[in-house]
Amino acid sequence: MMEGKAEKNEKPSTIIVSRCMEFRINPTEEQKILIWKTFGCCRFVWNHLLDERISYEKLNKGRLLNTTPAHLKKEHPFLNEIDSMALCNVQLNLNQACRKLFAKGKTPRFRKKGKDKRSYTTNWINNNIEIIHVRDDENYIRLPKLGLVRIILHRSIPGGWKMKHATVKETASGKFFISLTFDAEIESIETKKEFEKVEAFDYSMPSLVVSASGENDITPDDIRWYRNLEGKIAKEQRKLSRMEYGSSSYWKQKHKIGKLHEKARNRRKDFLHKLSHDVARDFDAVIVEDINLQHMSQALNFGKSVYDNGYGMLREMLAYKLNDQGKILVKVDKFFPSSKRCSVCHENNHDLKLSDREWTCQSCGTDYDRDKNSCKNLLDEGKYILNRWAGGDSSLILAPSGVLNGKKLHPQAHGNVR
Ligand SMILES: [Zn+2]
Repeated sequence: MMEGKAEKNEKPSTIIVSRCMEFRINPTEEQKILIWKTFGCCRFVWNHLLDERISYEKLNKGRLLNTTPAHLKKEHPFLNEIDSMALCNVQLNLNQACRKLFAKGKTPRFRKKGKDKRSYTTNWINNNIEIIHVRDDENYIRLPKLGLVRIILHRSIPGGWKMKHATVKETASGKFFISLTFDAEIESIETKKEFEKVEAFDYSMPSLVVSASGENDITPDDIRWYRNLEGKIAKEQRKLSRMEYGSSSYWKQKHKIGKLHEKARNRRKDFLHKLSHDVARDFDAVIVEDINLQHMSQALNFGKSVYDNGYGMLREMLAYKLNDQGKILVKVDKFFPSSKRCSVCHENNHDLKLSDREWTCQSCGTDYDRDKNSCKNLLDEGKYILNRWAGGDSSLILAPSGVLNGKKLHPQAHGNVR
């Protein structure tokens, strides 16, 4: 009994979580050249190892080949110039990609110059990466091989955070950033078991998302600025297509387009950050659909517009913002017939086409706006999943990220759940 009491008086238990912060860096011309070389070497190692893996895989199904960047260095001494951890990370990523894709009979892609992502990741070992304060407005980050790089610390890094790795990247408009990943110890928050206020978001085509409450819909007005930018990008893109590839005006135009893309991306991000922040503050749980937007855009030829809407980005932001407060994001199975189902009588309308924005239920006569109905169904299904989980259903496991996957439930099996 005494022991029990003592435990209660102790400090609240803590957990280690991963935290990421991004900062602008201003490398010197010399440092830029080394960064570009590193991008190139990473691409070289990726392609070299991948080529080897593919031919080896054909002969030795599923067995691993252990060529490392260290082996490549003997043949290609220029690899010694750059940060060796960057190359190790390329190998790790490649191994992961191969394991995943070979099992499905696919292969990872080769990287092409000019189309490749411009970034590399290095690891923190024995203080090899360190932030050095000189003055209030003058700070540097020490990086392997690069030495001291000027960094703009627009936010201070909380004490006690342990650096894990750093990713150096260059954006399409030629700016350099570093994103630092830390292990942070935070007080563990007890996960909520009661959910008074629950919101659901469904993906919607003309606007971006619709919400079950109706308070958090994104209207075309909210994103007009974004559509405007999109028009501008298309215009500049047409100009680019008339230019001679590789000419100086071509690269200038390419940078200009890169800048516009960046602007659009940043605005969208800002907008979604605000929305997710408010929703995570006001609601105890949020329901979303577990659809794969990439598959969807390919299958339906929606192309870019599906990516643009940021449904995926919103889900990610909601997940960690809710988790920080001991709240839950529920992902409803993608096979759940959210749009085809009548949210009053639960009859499925199998004739509903993607183009039908409004419909009337043949069984109970309710008139529907497609998105609102689908959102209502998501909300009901999500609440059902939450109740099952809170009631101790062992088939539902809450991930440490605070995401509850409702995959195992068969929506047809339950009737009126409110
Ligand atoms: Zn009905």
